[in-house]
Amino acid sequence: MANSGDTTTLKNISSHCKEYGFIYPSSEIYDGLGATYDYGPYGSELKNNIKEYWWKAMVRLNENIVGIDAAIFMHPTTWKASGHVDAFNDPLIDNKDSKKRYRADVLIEDAIAKIEGKIDKEVKKASKRFGDSFDEAQFTATNDRVLKYKGQIEDIESRMKSALEVGDLAALKQLIVDLEIADPVSGSRNWTDVRQFNLMFSTELGSVADESGKIYLRPETAQGIFVNYLNVQKTSRMRLPFGIAQIGKAFRNEIIARQFIFRMREFEQMEMQFFIKPGTDATWYEHWKEQRIKWHKALGLGEENYRFHDHLNLAHYANAACDIEFNFPMGFKELEGIHSRTDFDLSAHEKHSGKKLQFFDNEENKSYVPYVLETSIGLDRMFLAVMSSSYTEEKLEDGSERTVLKLPPALAPVKVAVLPLMNKDGLDEKAEEIMKEVKLDFNAQYDAKDAIGKRYRRQDAIGTPYCVTVDHQTLEDDTVTIRERDSMEQQRVSIPELIKTLDEKVNIKTLLKQL
Ligand code: ATP
Repeated sequence: MANSGDTTTLKNISSHCKEYGFIYPSSEIYDGLGATYDYGPYGSELKNNIKEYWWKAMVRLNENIVGIDAAIFMHPTTWKASGHVDAFNDPLIDNKDSKKRYRADVLIEDAIAKIEGKIDKEVKKASKRFGDSFDEAQFTATNDRVLKYKGQIEDIESRMKSALEVGDLAALKQLIVDLEIADPVSGSRNWTDVRQFNLMFSTELGSVADESGKIYLRPETAQGIFVNYLNVQKTSRMRLPFGIAQIGKAFRNEIIARQFIFRMREFEQMEMQFFIKPGTDATWYEHWKEQRIKWHKALGLGEENYRFHDHLNLAHYANAACDIEFNFPMGFKELEGIHSRTDFDLSAHEKHSGKKLQFFDNEENKSYVPYVLETSIGLDRMFLAVMSSSYTEEKLEDGSERTVLKLPPALAPVKVAVLPLMNKDGLDEKAEEIMKEVKLDFNAQYDAKDAIGKRYRRQDAIGTPYCVTVDHQTLEDDTVTIRERDSMEQQRVSIPELIKTLDEKVNIKTLLKQL
């Protein structure tokens, strides 16, 4: 009973994460805080391993990419220049009866989804009626009812698009009224006007609480890279093309923050800005699309779980953009963005700071503002992708069941468990000796409690790829058994060989070599 993709629900994953110390709701003893989560002992190990894989793939494998760690607080003008003060908004609407708040565009999209549902129903009905001779394409292109629904959808989409484009909030409200959209909770149609809501969290610098001291928690890590472009280029003696990578926290006051760690208010990003000569952007865009999908596929989470989604509506800063979408338990959703940002950011910072942010090109004998190619992935979303595709409930041949996390071995929080078969006859001492050795190389766990089968299950549930068992034969010939998590097969190896055997399977190098 493999249980991945469609049958694994977010609920299964989040309860498993909580039960086994991967992720807890933040400040749970006070009933938690919306859309914020704490990573537990295994969760933080797994998260660190994902970071290591990304960082090494970027900074170590590419000689022209260096890393930085910029502050979360930045000069407030940064966010004016980046466009976040003026344009990082969601259109919100409140229901006066239920007091619930919604994103106006999401309410409208839900209304569209309902009409799409009606089309599906018509198709199903007709398919039943016509049986084998049913031609769905022809039916949806000619059936009067379907055409009417399609027309409605087109009309709603075009009204929503033009309202959003010019920021016409009254038109957005009118659309909600015309569509007779009701609050999904209370059924009430008693709505407030639509307002723009900025997603940045603000606070005050120092002790004076006025506008002049207002600063923001960064909503993306990218700007810390842009403002350091010149510092890094000079101090690292970089020439174009070169990249700056960073992993760090970002904060967004998300309105609809559901779906576990998919959409959080405090999250982590892994971003890389690649500075290039203008005109080479199309080539580098393709290059980074290829590199990033390779990075994902090397993990072996299933090639069919990824797809590219090209942006048709480009953000103000981009001339090409796409998402790498992953097949999460709730369907294909954005995991990573790849954006060709032109010189938008550096030029804006030049303008607002009055400082030149250019590169002197010896070949061309002139200075220019570099173009930028960005890859931006959410660490927590990556965690969810890894978790949801690894979580498996299996029925074994003997009729028993096990829950196993089939994590890529190089990412697993615990690489090896050392288990003395019994707690006597010197087996425990021998196992402790082995533990002392392996923990120098790997995150290892020693477990001598309960029957061996139960101990295997505990390790399966946290995704430990290898269990080393010390038995009576160990005392005779210095060999141990290694049990592999997914196949549950056991192999005998000599203790001197043990570290090498494990290293070949769990070292992050196994992933990096594939890139
Ligand atoms: P979405 O459309 O899902 O809100 P976005 O397009 O705003 O995402 P970007 O600004 O491109 O996202 O951020 C880059 C990456 O950061 C995303 O691909 C995603 O993995 C991650 N990310 C963005 N917002 C959140 C969030 N609230 N919680 C967790 N991860 C996030």
